[in-house]
Amino acid sequence: MALIVQKYGGTSVGTVERIKAVASKVAAARERGDGMVVVVSAMSGETNRLVSLAKDICKRPDPRELDVLLSTGEQVTIALLSMALQEIGCPARSYTGAQVHILTDSAHSKARIRDIDDARVRADLDAGRVVVIAGFQGVDESGNITTLGRGGSDTTAVAMAAALKADECQIFTDVDGVYTTDPRVEPKARKLDRITFEEMLEMASLGSKVLQIRSVEFAGKYNVPLRVLSSFEEGEGTLITFEDECMEEAKISGIAFSRDEAKLTIRGVPDQPGVAYSILGPISGANIEVDMIVQNIAEDNTTDFTFTVSRNDFPKALEILKETAQVLGAREAEGDDAIVKISLVGVGMRSHAGIASKMFETLAKEGINIRMISTSEIKISVVVDEKYLELGVRSLHDAFDLAAESSE
Ligand code: ADP
Ligand code: ASP
Ligand code: MG
Repeated sequence: MALIVQKYGGTSVGTVERIKAVASKVAAARERGDGMVVVVSAMSGETNRLVSLAKDICKRPDPRELDVLLSTGEQVTIALLSMALQEIGCPARSYTGAQVHILTDSAHSKARIRDIDDARVRADLDAGRVVVIAGFQGVDESGNITTLGRGGSDTTAVAMAAALKADECQIFTDVDGVYTTDPRVEPKARKLDRITFEEMLEMASLGSKVLQIRSVEFAGKYNVPLRVLSSFEEGEGTLITFEDECMEEAKISGIAFSRDEAKLTIRGVPDQPGVAYSILGPISGANIEVDMIVQNIAEDNTTDFTFTVSRNDFPKALEILKETAQVLGAREAEGDDAIVKISLVGVGMRSHAGIASKMFETLAKEGINIRMISTSEIKISVVVDEKYLELGVRSLHDAFDLAAESSE
């Protein structure tokens, strides 16, 4: 008997009809003899609805109470799915994160899973029951409810699969796999049969929301076979694999993008040792993560310094930078939050030259100005004005021939 962990996202359990459809799929798999653990998200739109309810009460809700509130979304779905399973004669039991001891740290709204006690789940599986578990939530050592960050049900599923040493973790969603880029932005995007963990990790961390970053990290670390599939149509989906010889020889596997970006610049800073630290120290002191950094030397022994942060942190970061500008005697501090980051990802970059120049040439032909650049072994990212997101992604998708079955 195989042990399978399946996860169904918000759209896949968005209505009672869809919950019933998920129940039939799960029951059919159990009939075939597989042990089934099912992790579900809140019904689509529900988590956003709960967030806005909280925001109607106060601007900055208490993180502990917000987690208590947000965790209710998933609790509704587990109960409904268990009922739907029982209704078609399939024994099932639902559990919240706390009930199956998904122990996390206490970082509300971005908690990390530390441990899972799988005894209760195993007992149910042994008794032939389907186990339905609420995604996105856990409990800390003091018994407080925590949540794992948006998209966190993916991580619950992978962590559950790791704890149970499941044969496969299947992430069912509203697309039939991982594509060369978000099919909502580039309709010509192509589904990949396989992608490496390394590439998937880059895609996720550079903005492709199809899998939460932590779920990919977890799967890589604990060797969990991971697959992304559609809950609406049959198919093999995309398998996330370790690199092997039979992988396609593509230079580029995909294009990721992120709208969650803002950039800040401080100009005319005296160029002396410790400048970067005096600019970024106060930013990280406020718990704001910095992504790209560029420092230019101007002619008069001063320097201009530009960096990016996530858009949520922009107002706070600009406030801090303006204070720093005064302290350092800099000419000015300014910011722009109408920017986006577009990234090319591919393990093939390691062995192929000329990718960056082709990327820059393509953007230049479209008249898209590149504001910042950063590279690593398997990715190149550029920052461009927000209005160029779609044009940039589509022209790069064309230039690198990603729609073709075997791209160069
Ligand atoms: P779920 O609610 O099932 O967790 P998500 O909305 O979190 O679903 O993730 C699925 C969405 O991810 C797709 O609808 C698609 O728009 C988006 N997406 C972004 N990048 C990609 C990509 N490279 N491949 C497939 N989907 C992507
Ligand atoms: N319901 C949560 C969210 O909308 C978690 C998830 O769906 O994975 O972010
Ligand atoms: Mg998701």
